[in-house]
Amino acid sequence: MARSIRDAKLAFVLPVFNEEATLPPLYQALKVEIDRLKPSDYEIVFVNDGSVDGSLEVLRQLRRQDPCVKFVGLSRNFGHQPAINAGIDRADGDVVILMDADFQDDPAAVPALLREWEAGFDVVYAIRVNRKEGGIRRFLSAAFYRILDSLSETRHPLNAGIFSVLDRRVAAVLRRMPERNKYISGLRTYAGFRQTGVPVERLARHAGTPRQTWRKIAKLALDGLFSFSYRPLVVLSITGIFFALTGFLTVGVMVARRLFDLPVAFPQWTAYAALIAIGGLQLLWLGMIGVYIGRIYEEVKQRPYYIVAEQEGIRTDGPR
Ligand code: UDP
Ligand code: MG
Repeated sequence: MARSIRDAKLAFVLPVFNEEATLPPLYQALKVEIDRLKPSDYEIVFVNDGSVDGSLEVLRQLRRQDPCVKFVGLSRNFGHQPAINAGIDRADGDVVILMDADFQDDPAAVPALLREWEAGFDVVYAIRVNRKEGGIRRFLSAAFYRILDSLSETRHPLNAGIFSVLDRRVAAVLRRMPERNKYISGLRTYAGFRQTGVPVERLARHAGTPRQTWRKIAKLALDGLFSFSYRPLVVLSITGIFFALTGFLTVGVMVARRLFDLPVAFPQWTAYAALIAIGGLQLLWLGMIGVYIGRIYEEVKQRPYYIVAEQEGIRTDGPR
């Protein structure tokens, strides 16, 4: 059957961390698009990720005006990705729309994304063009997408963040992925089905400074790299082989020099320098292996990825 927004229930998912000033205008802007699109039903699931400002009060207020506004309150600040996952786990719609709650993902672009869903695509992600962000942030993020793409086994689209539209089948796949560390933009690619991107201009933050600190961004980048690839380990093995061969070759040359009295000489400091370099590399390799072991440890502990303190309007028996 042909897909149509008019027959579909839209479920928006927005992670919120200290966005009290942005939530009311963002809700208004979403409502304008929803009124235009006229879906058969909709819900807006806000995930309050342990905000310490008045965000939760604002959400309660919005819910009093519009029962289609729902919210999940996490027990503390877990981070952008866990918050989005908490939302996906509860979003009950034929189409799930992921976007940030800081107004950087333009509500006016939602219809364009949904049209691709109507055309039969199961994942439609916004490709960021003209990002209105600091130069370093933009440069690092572009570098990250390239490295991720070159390291991992699945092809990752460049400059595609959270902003996307997922068919319910894809949302169900994401929900069922059993791992704890869920880097959604990567898993979304991994999920497969029919995917496409639409260029969308990324807006400036409505209020305040980015809630993602550099530390959080670095963690996200590492999550992306290490959970999507064991190629760093392959690179380690290859450099290991290279050094082992060089070592054997050197020993061979030394032995030959002794046996046949060849005029090859190794200054002593070369040997020291080589030993120090190899020692350093070994520490680096150990560290890399440690990172993977740490990730395995994280998964094995089986701790919840996020903890829900309260929720309103959410079906207790899970999405249909
Ligand atoms: N966010 C969150 N938990 C956090 C940090 C951020 O839920 O610990 C939310 C934030 O409110 C926003 C979205 O995640 O809706 C993206 O955050 P931000 O704008 O700081 O990230 P950036 O745009 O730099 O990726
Ligand atoms: Mg932002």
